[in-house]
Formats: sequence, C-alpha cells, structure tokens
Amino acid sequence: MDIVEGSDFSIHNIPFGIFSNGKGGEKRMASAYGDEVIDLAFLWEQGLFDDFKFDRRIFVNDYLNDFIGLGKAVTSGVRKAIIDFLKTPEHALWQRRDDFMWKMAEVELHLPVSIGDYTDFYSSEAHATNVGKMFRDEANALLPNWKHMPVAYHGRASTIFVSGTNFKRPKGQIKPHGVETPYFSPTRRLDFELEMAAVIGKDSEWQKPVDANEAGDYIFGYALFNDWSARDIQHWEYVPLGPFLGKNFFSSMSPWIVTCEALEPFKVKANVQDPPPLDYLQEDNRFLYDINLKVYFQTREGQKKLISTSNYKNIYWSIGQQIAHHTINGCQLRIGDVLASGTISGEDVGSFGSLLEITWGGKNPIMFEDGSTRTFVEDGDTIIFEGVAGAGKAKIGFGKLINTVLG
Ligand code: MN
Repeated sequence: MDIVEGSDFSIHNIPFGIFSNGKGGEKRMASAYGDEVIDLAFLWEQGLFDDFKFDRRIFVNDYLNDFIGLGKAVTSGVRKAIIDFLKTPEHALWQRRDDFMWKMAEVELHLPVSIGDYTDFYSSEAHATNVGKMFRDEANALLPNWKHMPVAYHGRASTIFVSGTNFKRPKGQIKPHGVETPYFSPTRRLDFELEMAAVIGKDSEWQKPVDANEAGDYIFGYALFNDWSARDIQHWEYVPLGPFLGKNFFSSMSPWIVTCEALEPFKVKANVQDPPPLDYLQEDNRFLYDINLKVYFQTREGQKKLISTSNYKNIYWSIGQQIAHHTINGCQLRIGDVLASGTISGEDVGSFGSLLEITWGGKNPIMFEDGSTRTFVEDGDTIIFEGVAGAGKAKIGFGKLINTVLG
C-alpha cells in the first residue's frame, strides 16, 4: 500500500475525521491515507475492529466526540489496527478496496468535533509584543501579566467551521484614529490568525485543576486553526473586556485531527522561562511541537504568494501550561473543547502569523507579481494554511485550511 512520497497522510499519521460521500449522505468516521479517505464505518461493519465491541453509532456519527470519549487506550488501539491493516496487503478486505477507499477530493469533509467551548490563548511572545506595539505603546508592548500566565479569551464555538467554508465580510462599529464618532461599516481590516487547535479528549472535573504534567492525557489531537479577525472592529471594542464581535463572526479549522501519538516524535524541549512561572505552571518536561506552518495568500485575480513561514514551537506557553492555567480555578474542560494557541509568530517579519503584523498595521503592503497589493483581505481573496511535521516518508501533515472571503 504505497502512497505518493511527501503526502501529508503517511502511515505514521493516520488522523481521524468525519466524511460523507453522497451515498445516502450519512456522516461517517474516517481516516486519511495518501490522497484517499478510509471509510472506518465500512471496516467496522466488516469486522476489522471486532476486538473493541463498538456500537455502530461510534462510526456512523456526525462527530468524533463519542469515539474520543472511549479514551486513549481505545482510540490508540483503533489507530494501531488501521496501521496494521494498511501494512497487510494480503488481508481479504483489500479485495473490496473500492468500497472503503475514496479520493479525498471527491468526498465532503466535515467539522470533526462538536465543539462545546472554545478558548483562544495569546501565547506567542512575538505576536503579543507586535500587537501591543501597534494597539498600545511601543515601549510597554507586553502587558505586565503576560510572562506570568497564559493569557486567553473565551471565544464562540458556534461559528467555528471546517476548511472550505467561505464567509461574508462582517460589518460592525468602527472608529478609526482621528475620527470623532464611530460609524457602521463592513470591516476594512479583515485579517487571519495562524494558530494550532488542541482538541480536548477527556473531561476534566469541575473544581479539580489539571496538573500541568498530566495535561497530555486531556488532549486527543491537533488541527490547524484560523482565528479570523476584524481589526478595526476589534480595536474599537476590545477595552476593557477583550475580543467580541471582532472575532466571533467566523473561525475555521482543518478537517483532520492529528493524534498526540502521531506527533510524539516531534516534541522539542522548551526554553527555560524567565521569570519562572508560579508552581502550578511548572512542568517537569516542558515541551513544544516542531510543526512547520505556512500561510499562502491567493488574490481574487489568482495571484498566489507564500507570506509566512512559522512554527508551532514559536510559543512561550506550552499546551500543558495552558491547560493547567485554564483549570486552576476549577473551570471544567470537556471532550471536544478547542483550545487554540493564539497567533503563532516568530521573531522576523517572514514568520509573522497575521496581516496586522506582516503589513505592520497596513503600512507595508504585500506586493504580488501582477502589481497588485494587499494590506488586509479583500473580497474574493483566499487564505491557505499548511502544517507539516517531519519530511519524506515519515512526514505528518495536517492537510490544508482554506477559506475564501465573499463580497
Ligand atoms: Mn487568536
């Protein structure tokens, strides 16, 4: 069972998602291999997962939540059974390949989890510093709390959609610098935020904080995430309670959840933090993930340009610290919750994770080959994220996260 070398979905990946293929339209649990989708519901019907005594509803389901809720021992076991099956070309089921392998381009991929709650962190130091410089004060860009806790806001789960969903430019209240009174208008500063989403895989208990060292047990896997933002609406509304309508009109995530098991080889040791955080934010082995991230900007005229190359390891607060902080007051996390990283910017302009930073508030337009320019996203433009860990046959990718802005 060879696949094209360089595919995001090598045998080391085996992510989980939800697809439908038009045959009756029911949503079914799937994995990805090469450029194909594996119909896991079909393989269950044929007995491939008989060791686990599953209900049909685990595999024929609108979301992965019920599957995730079975726990890591089970979900890891299923992933291993899929890998073993892919390594066994003589298995009788391969005679029926056309019944369970579908070209990814020919099926519909759906939002993989029912998201109860969504939190967006603010964990990249370069991003927080850049935004602080532009929105507030060059000399005191990073607020005093930032190096003591993983700052976050509660987002809106109902408006998170899967890759491929297009959306209308939001309207709202805007008050540009130098203008006396606010006015109502479509946003003129529509932006993306390059982020990773951790999908919660285990309920935590209300009033029982999760230890930073045990936070890994609470994560099922990761996806690419775009926290679409209307900078002008955000700028006028965000003091004193933070982001609201400048953020909650639309967010998007990639369709495949790449498991923690698949990403295990890409853990990298995190730097020592200065100042040292409080005890509850201390981890014995603080790690980040080495995942290369790219952003492409495609204009409505079809010009496409790579505008950012960043990495998930460009964050200051680890996922363990984010979860420990989120639950330290007794707040409960539930299966399917999404914890997004915050915009992942590196130190230099080529690694910034938003247009606000790349164009420095609109001062430095992006130039395209046909002579057109952009400071923010215009109607008809498309933003594409890609994420990859490793290379060659061991490569683990996240697929693409694509959205087009409608007029
Ligand atoms: Mn964000």
